[in-house]
Amino acid sequence: MDNRENKTNKTPRSIFYYYGIALLVILIFNLILRPLIFSKREETTTYSEFINAVEVGEVEHVYFTETEIKYTKEINGRIYYFKTGIIDNPALPQLLQDKGVEYAAEIPTKPNIFLSILLNYGIPILIFFIIGRIISRNMKNKMGATGINIRGREVAKVYTPDKDKKTFKDVAGQEEAKESLLEIIDYLNNPLKYQKVGAKCPKGVLLVGPPGTGKTLIAKAVAGEADVPFFSISGSEFVEMFVGRGAAKVRELFEQANKKAPCIVFIDEIDTIGKKRDTGFSTNDEREQTLNQLLTEMDGFEGNKGVVILAATNRPEVLDPALLRPGRFDRQVRMELPDLIGREAILNVHLEKVNKEENIDVNLIARMTAGASGAELANIVNEAALRAVRNETNCVTTKDLEESVEVIIAGAVRKNAILSKEEKKIVAYHEIGHALVAAKQTGTAPVQKITIVPRTSGALGYVMQVDSEEKNLISKEDAKQRLAILCGGRAAEEIVFNSITTGASNDIEKATEIARSMVTRYGMSDEFGMMALQTGGNTYLGHSGESTVSPETARLVDIEVRDMIKEAHKKATEILLENREKMDELAKFLLEKETITGKEFMEILNK
Ligand code: ADP
Ligand code: ZN
Repeated sequence: MDNRENKTNKTPRSIFYYYGIALLVILIFNLILRPLIFSKREETTTYSEFINAVEVGEVEHVYFTETEIKYTKEINGRIYYFKTGIIDNPALPQLLQDKGVEYAAEIPTKPNIFLSILLNYGIPILIFFIIGRIISRNMKNKMGATGINIRGREVAKVYTPDKDKKTFKDVAGQEEAKESLLEIIDYLNNPLKYQKVGAKCPKGVLLVGPPGTGKTLIAKAVAGEADVPFFSISGSEFVEMFVGRGAAKVRELFEQANKKAPCIVFIDEIDTIGKKRDTGFSTNDEREQTLNQLLTEMDGFEGNKGVVILAATNRPEVLDPALLRPGRFDRQVRMELPDLIGREAILNVHLEKVNKEENIDVNLIARMTAGASGAELANIVNEAALRAVRNETNCVTTKDLEESVEVIIAGAVRKNAILSKEEKKIVAYHEIGHALVAAKQTGTAPVQKITIVPRTSGALGYVMQVDSEEKNLISKEDAKQRLAILCGGRAAEEIVFNSITTGASNDIEKATEIARSMVTRYGMSDEFGMMALQTGGNTYLGHSGESTVSPETARLVDIEVRDMIKEAHKKATEILLENREKMDELAKFLLEKETITGKEFMEILNK
């Protein structure tokens, strides 16, 4: 199957072989070539010849060393070098002086052996070493592509069992996922119990869920609970780091794991290697070989060996069906975005690790963060802790948490964004428009906070709404109300300034998305009713799927969407016109304070 790999798997020459050659080159250079190059051709003469030449005035320079006298003569414009031995002759300097010869003597120094070794050997070796590394790295890439195996050191580091141990206590919420993984832990703890009955442990479990829901975390926790080694590698590493060697790497990984069994092997982003094989021409491509090797390995090792493979993906629908067959990843565990209770639990887990005031309103923070993943919640707590340090209180408060929610959700407060007075006024009315439409429609969540302090995300202001309870089902009425709220900002601008600005672009985008989903996915339009107008779509990555309708119907859908938004806009305008005075009052208040709470808003509204 992968004979290409085997054929080319020649034993590679060790890097030390090349270093040896380099060292030899340096030695030859220093001991043989260097004296040849640097010693000038000097003719040896007698002392009397030297004295004669000085007398005649032929000598230009004289240089006394400890053992000889070197001198130069200029003949027909060319310099010739000579040397002779030393005879103790006190009159010589005077003679040279008289003849105008330039002369000098060597200052006797003890040769600095250390320095000369460093200069002659150390630096060249260093240079060779650096060049060698660069070349060998390039070679690894190039040869890797043809399947030649160069054993470098960093490759093996990838699978070292993890040291920081996690347990189920570190994973908040995700009760269903934990429950389905309990069996695996039990198996790893007492394999005998299962073997007696003849039951085989599931080999592979696929963890499916959006990014940041704790898939890696729970895999580590399974290893921690069962107290077995944890090997982890990401699918993308197979195809990026080990170019051309994906299949061999899979084999190595399983060799290692088998040695350490029982153990957990965790493959993150398995979709990068486990994508559906397409039936195109490129049947021998890298990814496919890697996938094939993975399948072979999974079929190959015995179920009772105690190697359990956990793999994570957020795109289960792109996986090759072969991966999901019995005996491979035949179990799926879903990791969902946490609900209100889950978010509270996650916040508590992470708050445990920071210094905080008593009575933190965790519930409030959880309610503010609908839709946030575990990773984002962890980030919010960390951000709050950083704030506490910055403010030198060193104690996380509810307020820190609230502020960091805004930082994470809306981007940090933009310090230098200065709005003109007129702009600020427009923004204030815009936000009050949203809030007022929200508050005036029954059943809409109360407003938590309104602000016109600009954020780095580009939002000039926003209305934060907090649902009093988690909503899983959204009724058509709810959806329509949301549309009206989104239209409220623009409507307020129109009413007050009789002109419109670009500030509503985000609202428009969101409103269109909601309206389109209502028509094409949720069967909420009168025109089409329960007809599905769209297929698939990745529920996790927000890809909305493909339209399945004819062009004419698509046009009708557009019209339907347009009408829905128009209607919502009309509704919003009506509400705002009815409450024109309140709107002015609220906008003025907001302009003054820049940030107002839901309570203040409601007080003015109900006055
Ligand atoms: P994934 O692998 O699903 O992308 P991770 O496991 O890498 O997500 O999660 C990232 C971080 O988010 C974790 O290290 C942890 O701090 C935090 N986290 C996510 N889910 C949870 C959870 N259920 N309980 C506690 N912390 C969580
Ligand atoms: Zn808006």
